[in-house]
Amino acid sequence: MSHETQIKGERTFFIIKPDAVQRGLVGEITKRFERIGLKLVAVKTAVATPEHVEAHYTLDPEWKRITGEKTIAGYKKKGMTPPSEDPLEITDAVLKGLKVYMTSGPIVCMVWEGPHAVKIVRKIVGGTEPLTSDVGTIRGDYVIDSYQMADADNRAVRNLVHASGSVKEAENEIKHWFKPEEIIDYKLIQEQVMYAPEIEGVFGK
Ligand code: GDP
Ligand code: MG
Repeated sequence: MSHETQIKGERTFFIIKPDAVQRGLVGEITKRFERIGLKLVAVKTAVATPEHVEAHYTLDPEWKRITGEKTIAGYKKKGMTPPSEDPLEITDAVLKGLKVYMTSGPIVCMVWEGPHAVKIVRKIVGGTEPLTSDVGTIRGDYVIDSYQMADADNRAVRNLVHASGSVKEAENEIKHWFKPEEIIDYKLIQEQVMYAPEIEGVFGK
């Protein structure tokens, strides 16, 4: 596979979390990926088990350390004291909350495909904490929550969606949630309009 084909066929894993399903935001959220030109190659509803959620977040053995460090840095940047100085202790608490949150109702799992799919979807999703995620992003537009509020109540930040953070993470997560036969290879007509190297014939002239 050429480098170009790899980029065009990049895939990312995405979850519409239980709060977003309850808020009736499935259509709003899905629309954003459709309108930018990404291709939906797999979708299903599910109710996740705590074991499946824990395995999802620990697919990357570094996730615990990185997430803990990110959280500590976030607190310090705002001049606040983090709940602990130990990144792993922080993430253990986050993971406990995540298992409750992510299994609290139905979720929608998706695989989106297109050039730079991982980065494009993260851009549209926005930063982890709704308090600081940019206006115009999913987490910035549809919900209010903060680490401060969530940690005080010993729960996970409710930020509506999950999106893979890297191509490697996406590959692992897609395998974790979907069987190969659940992912469909197909062409969208608009791919020609967006990416065809030769435009003759594509625009109808
Ligand atoms: P994401 O990739 O932007 O979803 O963020 P992470 O992979 O770092 O964290 C996974 C999920 O854990 C987030 O989406 C939040 O729901 C939750 N979470 C992350 N960090 C914290 C935290 O410091 N406190 C709380 N309460 N929840 C957190
Ligand atoms: Mg993540």
